[in-house]
Amino acid sequence: MGFGLMGAVLSIAMLILVLWQSHRHRDNQVMAGYLGSVFVWGASIFLSRLCLLLGINPQYFLFTTVFFMGLTSVFLFAVVCQQAGWLTKLWVRIALGVGILARLVTIPLMLTGHMYADSHLSPEGAVLYKLGPFESTHTAITNILCLLSLIIIVKQRKTSLSAFFWGTLMVTLGFASSFTPWRHYSLSSMLAAVSTLFFTAAILKKHLFNPLHEANNDLRVAKELAEEANKEKSRFLTRMSHELRTPLNAIIGYTELLMEEMQEAQRSTQLQTLSDLSKVGMAARHLLALINDILDLSRIEAQRLEIRAEAIPLSSFFASIEATIAPLAAKGNNSFRVDVQCSIDSVLSDPVRLRQILINLLGNAAKFTVDGTITLAVSTEEQYLSKHTHRAMLLFRVIDTGIGIPKERLSHIFEAFYQIQDETGRSNSGTGLGLTISRQLARLLGGELEVESQVGKGSVFTLRLPLLSPDRLAKSAA
Ligand code: ADP
Repeated sequence: MGFGLMGAVLSIAMLILVLWQSHRHRDNQVMAGYLGSVFVWGASIFLSRLCLLLGINPQYFLFTTVFFMGLTSVFLFAVVCQQAGWLTKLWVRIALGVGILARLVTIPLMLTGHMYADSHLSPEGAVLYKLGPFESTHTAITNILCLLSLIIIVKQRKTSLSAFFWGTLMVTLGFASSFTPWRHYSLSSMLAAVSTLFFTAAILKKHLFNPLHEANNDLRVAKELAEEANKEKSRFLTRMSHELRTPLNAIIGYTELLMEEMQEAQRSTQLQTLSDLSKVGMAARHLLALINDILDLSRIEAQRLEIRAEAIPLSSFFASIEATIAPLAAKGNNSFRVDVQCSIDSVLSDPVRLRQILINLLGNAAKFTVDGTITLAVSTEEQYLSKHTHRAMLLFRVIDTGIGIPKERLSHIFEAFYQIQDETGRSNSGTGLGLTISRQLARLLGGELEVESQVGKGSVFTLRLPLLSPDRLAKSAA
């Protein structure tokens, strides 16, 4: 009785697994038919035994036992033919229809009591009953279908069909065991249930794990292609930017030359031309700034931007920054100062890139502040990497008392080409790339760039860089 129950439980579990995991595959319907039929077969064995133990006539369950045993072989044959690619979907359906019909004609025989006379339990506990000639023929057909399935698989063992070998062998042995003199039906249904394990494993491998593996491979290939395309795009941009810069520089140069000549000649009639020329010059400079930014961004994305670290003497570095920013700050009637709050003379970093970041931040501060103050505050900080490890950081804070940035825009301002459009009438003369590049550069220098801001009060951009002063580096190298 245990074998029958175990077989039923096992096959229903496998049935649920197959339906749940790979329900989208059509050929699983035939496999599900096989698993379902093994389930009813096992359950019928269990119930017929229970009836005999309770002294009830088990003939209905004996009938379903043999009915589904036969149906299992039909489904098995259909599964194997389908996997071998021998039968089209239509033929699989026809074969199944004929098989099921052949089983159905036995129903009147069962109802008239012509099938299972004399059913009882053997001393070993097996269900025994006498088969009529009709049912014997059916059982023989069942065995033949199983053997045929096995032969097909063995013949095609070099194909994917080999995955079905063990399952088919199990169920064939199961059917054969029901032909032995002691007719151990529970054992045969148990072996069929074991076969469901093998079939489920094969079907899941084919429809679930293999496709996952293939999908992973496809994804990897797609990722590599996308990366290559991205690099190609960056290479193209780099080449194009170089090509565009040369004529642009010529336009700017000649525009300035013409303007100077006109100013010197003081020809008042040409005032309009002078103002037009100044517009040409401004547009060309804007275009050049845009191209330079795109070039930088594409170099960073293509990982072709080299960082050249060297000792930067801070006092002369700040003096040069002040020389660039003070006139810009003065335009908006702002005061500018550098406030060094630490005693560090030099730092190891890339001076070109560090300057680029600070000029960009301070340029923005000057652009968005009127009648206020702009400060570059420099200090140090200990950054905790974990509970016990920390490192020294150098902090550059660009503080302005300008129009500020709305809270909901703060997370966007580091996105490429992002510019805030609002009612404050802020200037959008930039490229929308400055902060994107600055943050990328900060990361390339081993640091980070963050922002805090309040509308109407001002903004603080904080650039944190690891503090590697040259003497420290020399010490650690020694
Ligand atoms: P852009 O070159 O156009 O200035 P950025 O990437 O440097 O581009 O800045 C993006 C946007 O962030 C700017 O258009 C501006 O609206 C806002 N922003 C940047 N810095 C400040 C600042 N100090 N004060 C107010 N708004 C700022």
